[in-house]
Amino acid sequence: MARKVIIIGSGPAGLTAALYTARANLDPLVLGGLEWGGQLMLTTEVENYPGFIDGINGPDLMENFKKQAERFGAEIINSNVTSVDFSQKPFKIISGENSYEAQTVIIATGASARWLGLENEQKFVGKGVSSCATCDGFFFRDKEIALVGGGDSAMEEALFLTKFASKVTVIHRRDKLRASKIMQDRAFENDKIEFVWNSQVEDVLGDDSVTGIKIKNLETNESTTISVSGLFVAIGHVPNTDFLKGHIELNDQGYIECNGTKTSVDGVFVAGDVHDFRYRQAVTAAGHGCEAAIDVEKYIEMNGL
Ligand code: NAP
Repeated sequence: MARKVIIIGSGPAGLTAALYTARANLDPLVLGGLEWGGQLMLTTEVENYPGFIDGINGPDLMENFKKQAERFGAEIINSNVTSVDFSQKPFKIISGENSYEAQTVIIATGASARWLGLENEQKFVGKGVSSCATCDGFFFRDKEIALVGGGDSAMEEALFLTKFASKVTVIHRRDKLRASKIMQDRAFENDKIEFVWNSQVEDVLGDDSVTGIKIKNLETNESTTISVSGLFVAIGHVPNTDFLKGHIELNDQGYIECNGTKTSVDGVFVAGDVHDFRYRQAVTAAGHGCEAAIDVEKYIEMNGL
């Protein structure tokens, strides 16, 4: 039998949608991915999620989200969706050998930070290496840090980080930034930001936490080492939409095209970072999850489903 709603993804957006649709008696099924919980499962202390005066550990916060949704009857399965069929109703959602049917779908599969791919980069995630200035900038008060990237996100994060760090060294692989002119100007005007051009990070150095990075100049092939306490990687995000290609409208970067929570397919809704490359916060994703759930509830009512 077709479910009233299936939610794909189990980060803050998906689990908030689950909580709201469960409380609306829509009996939601969450296909949460093999690694449930989203990007917060990779963080340590979360200090900017409202309501937690002393902060909360990322995985603990997600465990709370999950238990709260389950308390109202949401069913959560840890499996990856491999394909969908939105060409007819009820919609079909396939996860390996299992197939599910739903009257409505909320896609909340998020986006993953793009990493440099260095061995030590992953070793130091949460110990000096970060992909989120808003989340972790606070921990680098009066410290020197480095940031990789030349896009709008990189400039935005570098500017944000100057509120805490004593110096931010931006390392970019070319001699021109990709960022918009206004963001470039702001970064160039900031005394705390220094640029290292035509260079790439070769290694992250340290024992228990980051103490420096090795940088290679791509023109001269020379390598140098600089002392920093942190490395921020801001080279873009990759929306988790591979399984949706050809089934729903995506923009040229793979993010879901939408109008509010509505996608190009009637009855399929979206929430969180899978469409939002601008804010990318747990709290905004949770807000989107709430909006999508309320829109699903109205859609079901209006269509007599
Ligand atoms: P982006 O525009 O794709 O920029 C990614 C940057 O990372 C580029 O400078 C790229 O270098 C560099 N890069 C990519 N892979 C790399 C690698 N393996 N090693 C080293 N450097 C690498 O991504 P974004 O900055 O996240 O922005 C995404 C979208 O959101 C854009 O459309 C942007 O305009 C928008 N956005 C807007 C705002 C705003 O308006 N304030 C804020 C944030 C984001 P190259 O330049 O050499 O390719």
